[in-house]
Amino acid sequence: MPAAPSAPAHPSPAPATLSGPQKALRKLGLVRSIDLALHLPLRYEDETRIVPLSQARDGQTVQIEATVTTSEIVLHPRRQLRVLVDDGTGTCELRFFTFYPSQQKTMAVGVRLRIRGEVKGGFWGRQMLHPAFRLAGGELPVALTPIYPTTAGLPQPYLRRAIVMALGRVDLSETLPSRAPSPPLQWHDPIGSGQALWTLREALVFLHHPAPDVALATLEDHSHPAWQRLKAEELLAQQLSQAQSRRERAQLRAPVLQTRGAGPQTLSLPEQLLAVLPFALTPAQRRVGEEIARDLARPVPMHRLLQGDVGSGKTVVAALAATIAIDAGWQCALMAPTEILAEQHFAKLIGWLEPILAARGQSVAWLVGGQKKKERTAMLERIENGEAALVVGTHAVIQQQVRFKNLALALIDEQHRFGVAQRLALRQKLAAHGMEPHLLMMTATPIPRTLAMSYYADLDVSVIDELPPGRTPIVTKTISDSRRDELIARLGAQIAAGRQAYWVCPLIEESEALDLSNATATHADLSAALPGVQVGLLHSRMPSAEKKAVMAAFSAGQMGVLVSTTVIEVGVDVPNASLMVIEHAERFGLSQLHQLRGRVGRGAVASACVLLYSTGDSGRLGEVARERLQAMVETNDGFEIARRDLEIRGPGEFLGARQSGDAMLRFADLRTDTLLLDWARALAPQMLEQHPELAQRHIARWLGGKAEFLKA
Ligand code: ADP
Ligand code: MG
Repeated sequence: MPAAPSAPAHPSPAPATLSGPQKALRKLGLVRSIDLALHLPLRYEDETRIVPLSQARDGQTVQIEATVTTSEIVLHPRRQLRVLVDDGTGTCELRFFTFYPSQQKTMAVGVRLRIRGEVKGGFWGRQMLHPAFRLAGGELPVALTPIYPTTAGLPQPYLRRAIVMALGRVDLSETLPSRAPSPPLQWHDPIGSGQALWTLREALVFLHHPAPDVALATLEDHSHPAWQRLKAEELLAQQLSQAQSRRERAQLRAPVLQTRGAGPQTLSLPEQLLAVLPFALTPAQRRVGEEIARDLARPVPMHRLLQGDVGSGKTVVAALAATIAIDAGWQCALMAPTEILAEQHFAKLIGWLEPILAARGQSVAWLVGGQKKKERTAMLERIENGEAALVVGTHAVIQQQVRFKNLALALIDEQHRFGVAQRLALRQKLAAHGMEPHLLMMTATPIPRTLAMSYYADLDVSVIDELPPGRTPIVTKTISDSRRDELIARLGAQIAAGRQAYWVCPLIEESEALDLSNATATHADLSAALPGVQVGLLHSRMPSAEKKAVMAAFSAGQMGVLVSTTVIEVGVDVPNASLMVIEHAERFGLSQLHQLRGRVGRGAVASACVLLYSTGDSGRLGEVARERLQAMVETNDGFEIARRDLEIRGPGEFLGARQSGDAMLRFADLRTDTLLLDWARALAPQMLEQHPELAQRHIARWLGGKAEFLKA
């Protein structure tokens, strides 16, 4: 959905002949008539009425018509033009601290003026500071005057005219089917208001020029029927485009992945994996494993999102899917957003799978950015000839030089870190076979239900909704930075008792270099304060070999504390680490805090998370920061955290790569418009089925050239 009215998919350079305001329109993305028509006012001014001064209340912005009785320049306390006016019901003093001689001339004694401004004072006399004014007379407008969001070089009157003209020529013909589709759906009254939906034309004309008697509150809170229509339109466009991509995908071919019926003597690969695992799957893992297996057995590409809180055990489910693909004679790729994560998956999967694969003459390959040329060449060869049945790595996996023999399944961990382009690249890896690989995307940032239904409507979703047994809940505490020394002393005692801790350093958005100096300084501090404890340092600028060495020492338990920037944010798994300190916790987002906390509480020991906060110079935490820290203390449940995050911040954070402004809803608000969302979800597939032309027209109107992009 366009965030700013849509610019064409490939904006052509502005011709030199464009005027200043025309260029400004382009800059705002106001290109097509429909873009202008959908550029809605920020607020309105009421110029439809003349208010008698006797009725003007303190603080009210009013329009009056009155005659000038005095006009003088006063020098004390400061030079100013003071004008007294009288409309027969009362008087008002106008004050101007800056003015042109021409303005002074306009406001000559005896002249009747139309004046608009905020009235101050009452009993001791009314006043307006710098009101707008012109000569009285002329017709009063019949509608409220719209005030549009604009930019430098684009005056309101120009923009207003452009919008009026656009409204005159834009095609706003109805795209909703005229008869209720079957089964009967309240399509004409999505929110059950007892009132039929307005047409789009009615809604837009009204929103640009509302009648003066409208309850402005209903425009401001977007509950007015005109707003309802707009939000319904927008959500419908979103659902249509996603339902359409779902249908298009159903036309694509993918390899059928089924384990071969292994004889009674030989176990299938998935069975072999289950046999070597040191634990039994949780019921939730088994259930989603079956959902995935069913998808893989179909000849159309799977497009599934696997959600599960941090530590819920997604990796093993992914490994299980991998064994199904490999057992069927195909290749599988596992992609993670960072090398450290990829390394961890690699280590675990190797431990589980390598012996099993080796027995079949197959292996696991590993591809990351900083690899040695020789190693990389060897890996590429094994991938191309199919010896590598499983390929683990970072973005390096989807590079063009990487040619798979027969990639059938791609597993993407922490999917929100990958962009649309990368998913598209993956999907093209099987093009030589005239097919697309199955896609399983994993995320530990649970997506609230409404958000999943809206932005991820084109995905199937599986949820792991329980943690493996035997986990003790993490205790979370907030501690002021002023008690840092006390905290370090307690940390020392815990480490002496055999525990391990992460210490995460603040995120400073503007500067990666500062991030680093902070982490380095903290590392020095802690090393000095904790003699005899090995303190490690991990940050994103380190060479990958060094990162690996540090992670290995920490995993092996040789290192008491690991100081790190947020590189450990996702997925790292060291069960013996049971303490997490997050410095400047007030600077992190809620989901990010939850992710970080999820690094501990992975073993049977009781774990703790300390949110160290600093109030800075103000001496107190901001409201949002306080709410976040509070939420962290109150709950360990990722879905509850996600729900609160949505409340605090809106949907942006969850959408990751889809977060690009283009994908955002401009008018609808998922926190409140759930009825409209349900309506759009129900209507979209029916419309595609029964009224395909209307559906296409609707998508084109709202998404222009962007529909293709949103599908990936
Ligand atoms: P995440 O969902 O965050 O990716 P992981 O897959 O890293 O979680 O799993 C977290 C830890 O739990 C790992 O050490 C993993 O081996 C372990 N684990 C996974 N499933 C189970 C299970 N069913 N029983 C016990 N431990 C499990
Ligand atoms: Mg994980």
